[in-house]
Amino acid sequence: MKELPGASLQKACRLLVCFCVLHLLAVVFYYLAGSTLSFQGSPEPPPRSLAPSRREPATRPADLSKPDVDCPDPSPLLVGPLRVEFSQSINLKNVENDNPEVRDGGRYTPKDCKALQKVAIIIPFRNRDEHLKYWLYYLHPILQRQQLDYGIYVINQGGEETFNRAKLLNIGFTEALKEYDYDCFVFSDVDLIPMDDRNIYKCYSQPRHLSVSMDKFGFRLPYNQYFGGVSALSKEQFQKINGFPNNYWGWGGEDDDIYNRLVFKGMGISRPDASIGKCRMIRHSRDNKNEPNPQRFNKIAHTRETMKSDGLNTLTYTVVKTDKFRLYTKITVDIGSPKS
Ligand code: BGC
Repeated sequence: MKELPGASLQKACRLLVCFCVLHLLAVVFYYLAGSTLSFQGSPEPPPRSLAPSRREPATRPADLSKPDVDCPDPSPLLVGPLRVEFSQSINLKNVENDNPEVRDGGRYTPKDCKALQKVAIIIPFRNRDEHLKYWLYYLHPILQRQQLDYGIYVINQGGEETFNRAKLLNIGFTEALKEYDYDCFVFSDVDLIPMDDRNIYKCYSQPRHLSVSMDKFGFRLPYNQYFGGVSALSKEQFQKINGFPNNYWGWGGEDDDIYNRLVFKGMGISRPDASIGKCRMIRHSRDNKNEPNPQRFNKIAHTRETMKSDGLNTLTYTVVKTDKFRLYTKITVDIGSPKS
């Protein structure tokens, strides 16, 4: 039978409507997919467990009124084991947006309770901006979940002299105290990321070693006295040992000297459980001007005598520049040279 002209017009209209609906659906689909794929320019979203916890921005300046009630110990916000990887590239603007409660200079104060400790995190630094991005990306959310009143201090060694990690840490202690009444100091290498947020970046009755099972060492301690990587000392513990040595130039030994200082002052090391103390190190080649220090073995044999005259009481340096970024305070310093 032959189709009437009106019926074929109706059919054409229906087809047109279907096409329009399909077109609309396709547009909506690509729009939604596009917003997920464009995250930090990487094809994969970041590990779920580590995506910073988004909370409503504070409705009042965090430092105007302090809540009276102590934060619970342990923090109820902790999630335990974390996935840590370094494949995606980090955009610091995104990290800033993901951490709206962090204030200028990398300062944070819990708004609903009084933090148990005021912690300055000190990072010795030179030319490791990529590592610092990972550190900030991973650590800010962790430290907020730990409900600490904290500040991040990156102590950047200016000039071209041999690197001096322990002296930079002494400077971080001194400079942070000029800003706020910190009672605890966490000293962290820029390339070490904890794999469990129950590894609390705070101080204990004994100096704390936090990086106890590093992937670099097969998730074990390289030796029992090892105190390198990430450690925490209260203000009193740090002052009791006259701070750290100032004259270990180049790689190695300064952490062993610090361990000796603690022991000679009658302290011991406290550590988290090996599983909670797991951490990842960002792989890298050896830095220029940070060759292994051949004098280190001789030096650590004499800590008992040298610690009285090498430390906080003999620390000299010049601050060249202080930058207050949203996620951290960067203090560039002139620390002199091995000969000075
Ligand atoms: C060095 C330390 C270093 C440790 C692990 C020791 O020989 O003196 O500074 O942390 O090895 O690499």
